[in-house]
Amino acid sequence: MKSKNTVLILGISSILILISVQVFIIAGIWKQKNEMFALQYTILSKEALSYFNRRMPSDGFDTVRYILRKYSEQAVKELHSAKDQSELISAKKDVLDYFTTVLNKEQDLSYMLSSYFERRGFAKNFNVSITINNLELISNDTIVVYGNEDLSNRMPLPGNQRPLAPEISRSKIMVNWFNMEDNNYRLFFFYFIDFSNQRNIILKEIAGSLGLSTISILLVGIMFLITFRNLKEEQRLSNLKTDFINNMTHELKTPLSTITVAGKTLEMPQIRNNDAKILETAKLIGKQSVHLNQLINMILEISMWERTQFQLDKRIVDIEEVMNDIVDSFKSGGGNNASIYTKYNFNGAKVDLDVIYFTTLLNNLLSNAVKYSDKEPVIDVEGFAENNTICIKVSDNGIGINKIDQKHVFDKFYRASTGNIHKFKGLGLGLYYVKKIAEAHEGDVTVSSKPGKGSTFTLILPNNS
Ligand code: ADP
Repeated sequence: MKSKNTVLILGISSILILISVQVFIIAGIWKQKNEMFALQYTILSKEALSYFNRRMPSDGFDTVRYILRKYSEQAVKELHSAKDQSELISAKKDVLDYFTTVLNKEQDLSYMLSSYFERRGFAKNFNVSITINNLELISNDTIVVYGNEDLSNRMPLPGNQRPLAPEISRSKIMVNWFNMEDNNYRLFFFYFIDFSNQRNIILKEIAGSLGLSTISILLVGIMFLITFRNLKEEQRLSNLKTDFINNMTHELKTPLSTITVAGKTLEMPQIRNNDAKILETAKLIGKQSVHLNQLINMILEISMWERTQFQLDKRIVDIEEVMNDIVDSFKSGGGNNASIYTKYNFNGAKVDLDVIYFTTLLNNLLSNAVKYSDKEPVIDVEGFAENNTICIKVSDNGIGINKIDQKHVFDKFYRASTGNIHKFKGLGLGLYYVKKIAEAHEGDVTVSSKPGKGSTFTLILPNNS
């Protein structure tokens, strides 16, 4: 018991440790991938831009330029015609909105990037967001400046110096900043891409390691379960064996000590002159010897079955006749006040039987029905022929067997929820013997029972009529 608990605790702890280690590793990979994500796509975008520079006639903003050139001429006029300050502010806002819309909608850079990413085996579905940082409309005498006031100091920097990007959400990746200049406007904006399915992309990338670690956890779990079940089974068998040895010692000792006491009684001078007492003691010795002999035979036979095949001496018999003989002799022999009722509907069915083994089988069922009873035993023996089979049911009103024990009662040495401190004597071999004999006759035996109500054993045999 102790070692089983230790194995259980050790097994569960190692599985928990394994799961924690795997979760730790996967979380580490996830964090790293997440952090690397933006960097990876920033580098990839830079690569793409320099590739477009070298290989493409367009930077992706040709249409934008065309539309804005036309629009800016008209926008300058509109701004000049504003009557007061509020009209001017509203007109500036309209111009800024229009520029933003055209930039976002009419650019082809996102399509070019998307195809480049796809060719390189990266994710290609992203959203684009373009943020205008500075916009100046230029006319002959006036330069009208639009854009984010806070950012107005962030003018394009000379050379390749990178300007500070405006505050953006964490998932946005800045691809580049652009300067656009024409007769009527000067524009500076940032181009961002945003992967809304970043989680899924990373999940896909780590799917391999995630799958492997799940499989390894599952495998270890299954191995642990199998080992634990084997251990439990081994422990159950070892307990059964210990119980069997204790029960057998008890079972053998009881008739032996009765015989010893009876022998001593016979030696007493006052008994030797009493014929009636001598006869009674001799009968007692005889009965106990028969019992002892039966026990030893059963143990020997079962151990013989382990090594050799069942040797049946079968012959075709009228099953009803055989049943009547066995039940009658049980009633007159060890019936122990049991009321036994029979109801047969065999229709003269014939069965190929080893009558001696079959007698032991039925006797075991009947004597169990008597033995495992806490009141006056009432036993119903039913039998009927059905197509190709014979069905025999032995029902009692005894203590019954619970569901878990029902699964094991036919196992060797099994005694229901008990051990050597059983109220009812036995070796746990009777039903094993019944099952073996039934199977040797190409039949089977099953049990149905309700604790406190009684049990029914159903025996099925081939009908050889
Ligand atoms: P034994 O009677 O020697 O213990 P068996 O193999 O005949 O061994 O029976 C196995 C167990 O099944 C018994 O220990 C008993 O708990 C249970 N059992 C068998 N027959 C009955 C019955 N008719 N009613 C209740 N319990 C039974």
